[in-house]
Amino acid sequence: MNLAAYAVSRSRGRRFPEDVPAYRSEFQRDRDRIIHSSAFRRLEYKTQVFVNHEGDLFRTRLTHSIEVAQIARSIARALGLNEDLAEGIALAHDLGHTPFGHSGQDALNACMSNYGGFEHNLQSLRVVEFLEERYASFPGLNLTFETREGILKHCSVKKAAELGDVGERFLRNTEPSLEAQLVNLADEIAYNNHDVDDGLRAGLVEFDEIRAVTLFAEQCATAEAAHPGLPERRLIHETVRRMINVLVVDVIDYSRSLITAAGVQDVDEVRLAGKPLFQYSPPMAEKSLELKRFLREQLYAHFRVRRMSLKAAAVVRRLFEAFMSDARLLPPQYQQAIRDANGEETAHARVVADYVAGMTDRFAIQEYGRLFEPAELT
Ligand code: MG
Repeated sequence: MNLAAYAVSRSRGRRFPEDVPAYRSEFQRDRDRIIHSSAFRRLEYKTQVFVNHEGDLFRTRLTHSIEVAQIARSIARALGLNEDLAEGIALAHDLGHTPFGHSGQDALNACMSNYGGFEHNLQSLRVVEFLEERYASFPGLNLTFETREGILKHCSVKKAAELGDVGERFLRNTEPSLEAQLVNLADEIAYNNHDVDDGLRAGLVEFDEIRAVTLFAEQCATAEAAHPGLPERRLIHETVRRMINVLVVDVIDYSRSLITAAGVQDVDEVRLAGKPLFQYSPPMAEKSLELKRFLREQLYAHFRVRRMSLKAAAVVRRLFEAFMSDARLLPPQYQQAIRDANGEETAHARVVADYVAGMTDRFAIQEYGRLFEPAELT
């Protein structure tokens, strides 16, 4: 890899020191550990907008994370940044999500309001630091500082103070590495575009409505001009791939100019730059915002999505309440964790939150059935 001076080239290290890998970089090792984790496999049955059983073609958190990694790698490579680090952060960024996307997270956060709250971003960090149980010598995956820093996208000052090394930047108001910054944009590019694609496929977004959105309209016109009379399905794909491309190219070009203007010579200077150096150009930021607004109003607020969200929130809430009122409903290892906490209620709640957050959509629905549906007494 030919790294730029401002790229992350070596790690500050891991919490538990380990031997250097024989043929991999430290960041390749992180990425490989993430791919082999149980939390990563569970992403296959977790969703963002559509619930898993609604159809086989919709994005899941797994395919979303792979798309984010693909976009992140393209951007990283174009700017001489550390592709392995960006890929690892991208693949791990959603590990802490609850079942049922944002409605699940909001419901769990409300359940946890007296116990320190629940935030998926912090949970992703908790998964890689504590919850994965795979190694003899340490809890979690023992990832490098840089990968963990990238996973912790945002965080309140109060929480940051409890998090040690990766929390420090929120207290000092400094920036993370460029690799971490670019993954945030890759995430946004991925979900805005795949939600357009999924929304159209599901019939929740109308082709004629989205043609009023500038970014879509411009790329659709280019695709139509190049391929007159193209059937709608292919036209949509041609449009979406062009949208991804113009957004990625814009981010690369504009961020390159910001990085050059800031004159950063190494990653320490990136951290002290005073602002994120990864951004859309102002005109593209405007177009991206218009698309986001459209998706918020037309897709995320669609009655069919809201209906599913209501149900999802009820499932999460009732599971949480059941496990809070009777810990003996939990699998033995979780009961043990609660006993280890000596009956302390906040610790009990965190164990329940970890268990519920780790569920896939379908497991949560099954568990709900086992607990509350009279017909399912097995
Ligand atoms: Mg994401």
